[in-house]
Amino acid sequence: MKNSKNLIVGCGITGITLARKIAEEKQESVLIIDKRNNIGGNCYDYYEDGICVHKYGTHIFHTDNKYVWDFLSKFTKWHPYMHKVKAIIEGKEVPVPFNLNSINLLFPKCLAEKLEEKLIAKFGFGKKVPILELRESKDKDLTFLADYVYKRVFLDYTLKQWGLKPEELDPLVTGRVPVYISKDDRYFQNKYQGIPLKGYTSMMENMLKHPLIKVSLNKDFKDFTNVDKYDKIYYTGAIDEYFNYKYGQLPYRSINLDFQKFNTEYYQSNSVINYPENYTFTRIGEYKYFLNDKSRKTIVSFEYPEAFVLGKNERYYPIIKDENQELYKKYLKEIKKDNKITFLGRLGDYKYYDMDKAIERVLNMEL
Ligand code: UDP
Repeated sequence: MKNSKNLIVGCGITGITLARKIAEEKQESVLIIDKRNNIGGNCYDYYEDGICVHKYGTHIFHTDNKYVWDFLSKFTKWHPYMHKVKAIIEGKEVPVPFNLNSINLLFPKCLAEKLEEKLIAKFGFGKKVPILELRESKDKDLTFLADYVYKRVFLDYTLKQWGLKPEELDPLVTGRVPVYISKDDRYFQNKYQGIPLKGYTSMMENMLKHPLIKVSLNKDFKDFTNVDKYDKIYYTGAIDEYFNYKYGQLPYRSINLDFQKFNTEYYQSNSVINYPENYTFTRIGEYKYFLNDKSRKTIVSFEYPEAFVLGKNERYYPIIKDENQELYKKYLKEIKKDNKITFLGRLGDYKYYDMDKAIERVLNMEL
């Protein structure tokens, strides 16, 4: 293979999608490097005791974008899976996003009926109402409900997850899990949903199988001396790190995942159970549910969110609030001075992308 023209830094879902796009559309060679010793970034999964475990926490694929779905479907078959989440509220397992079924499980019948009627009258059946919007209601019953959901579903969970109150974050963050005036218990209503039949890693390996793509793992960009020979560099790592933190660090949240294995068929009743109020973890994921893996054992992860600290843990989530966007914009200005490099992905764009949005961003990119 002749020397690669394109260098991609970071072998996560963004870098891998891009490598494939460059190889197919431009028929140019690509070298993709990653400092980790595995592909896939935080979408990496592996098998243990017959169970497909998501190393960086539960990942569920969902999209409305047919183009994204068809693109991935060239590299994997799908296990049809519709994600549902339960939260422990006042000791009961209730559906989250909080919906009409949650109301009926938690409140006495007469109150539940009144709340249901008022919600439907004010917002309409089938509407999704972010909690911060519901809190603006003037009606006393809806105010009661909004305060209840805010406190029991969002406040402590968000404090644990972000170290911030819901209103201190961009409304889009808690808006991801709106109150849903519906009896649909699914976490997502997207048209296309599923888990890659043999796992995300297998799907991504297939994406990388192309004669023009070369993968080099355990390779840190910092130790990479041949940068000049590439025509284009695509950087999916952290933009602040690339610029040596000259304007300061962009804050991230990290998660300490405590994996535990049990000699029992199932540990809990559902793939993901949230613990908004109790305990210091936010949720427990049980992996065998995603692909319906058969095993006498089960593997779960307890999620303990924590601040990202350089050298200690991994970046998971950009913290979406105004002052951090301002800092990101300063770095963005630096990029404009150099047209050989493009930043992208959760860390390069400093955006809270879901997997489909990360892929969409690449597929829509002009090369
Ligand atoms: N959230 C919450 N309680 C819940 C679920 C979600 O407060 O039971 C809030 C929390 O701030 C969280 C955000 O909604 O970070 C988005 O949740 P999502 O499940 O989309 O987060 P992810 O799966 O990306 O970690």
